[in-house]
Amino acid sequence: MQDKDPLVTLAWLVEAGADEAIQETPVNRLKLKDAPPQVAPMRAPTIAPPSQAAPVPGDHIGNAMAAAAAAADLAQLKAALESFDGSALKRMATNTVFADGVAQSRVMLIGEAPGRDEDRIGKPFVGRAGQLLDKMLISIGLDRARNCYITNVMNWRPPENRDPAPEEAAICLPFLRRHIELIYPKIIVLLGAVAARHVMGITDGIMKARGRWMEYRVGEQMVPVLATLHPAYLLRQPAHKKLAWRDLQAVARKLEELGGPG
Ligand code: URA
Repeated sequence: MQDKDPLVTLAWLVEAGADEAIQETPVNRLKLKDAPPQVAPMRAPTIAPPSQAAPVPGDHIGNAMAAAAAAADLAQLKAALESFDGSALKRMATNTVFADGVAQSRVMLIGEAPGRDEDRIGKPFVGRAGQLLDKMLISIGLDRARNCYITNVMNWRPPENRDPAPEEAAICLPFLRRHIELIYPKIIVLLGAVAARHVMGITDGIMKARGRWMEYRVGEQMVPVLATLHPAYLLRQPAHKKLAWRDLQAVARKLEELGGPG
């Protein structure tokens, strides 16, 4: 899936508006010095999972909250999602789509929901939007095989890729919130309006929200959050790639600020 051809990355950069060198010597962000180190980050303040109560018939959101809270690690969280039976979307889906990437990463990206390819393969962002996302990430030294982690608000594909209904999202959100606690990233990047709405409560549009740093509480810590445009939107509106490029540069700068062992 990864397209590491530097010319392809260069083409993305030029299309995004980065058509001018600003320093006399080029900075290779893919070199280890600039790439976020692959060291174990400071782990989340331990939020002890309560033992799980028996599911209450019909209380899907309550059951999701209990199942998510009882997960002590990522493997348990994935297993809890895979055995959860309170989602109508799940019954229509081929796979539960959990995450991809390196769990110890400093950057956690959150998209919207699996599409057809993701549902078939069981991993987030493996279709065309995912290929563009990989190029965007590589342009700032991030790579899901090395140093970033990707998931979605929704773990099951909404039919016809429609927006998830509020009650469908409400069932996935306890799992997502626990997922964020367990990863305990240094930076969260929200891809598109659905992620911005469900993670940060933003309802007045991604164009207003994008590019502004916000904060998400994990235990006692505030984690910086940046919303940007969804790669599927960028495929439809390539002229807006330059906005996404600005957002990515803000992420790269923040990573540098937060540099050193995670
Ligand atoms: N779009 C998303 O938001 N997530 C995916 O996993 C794929 C496409």
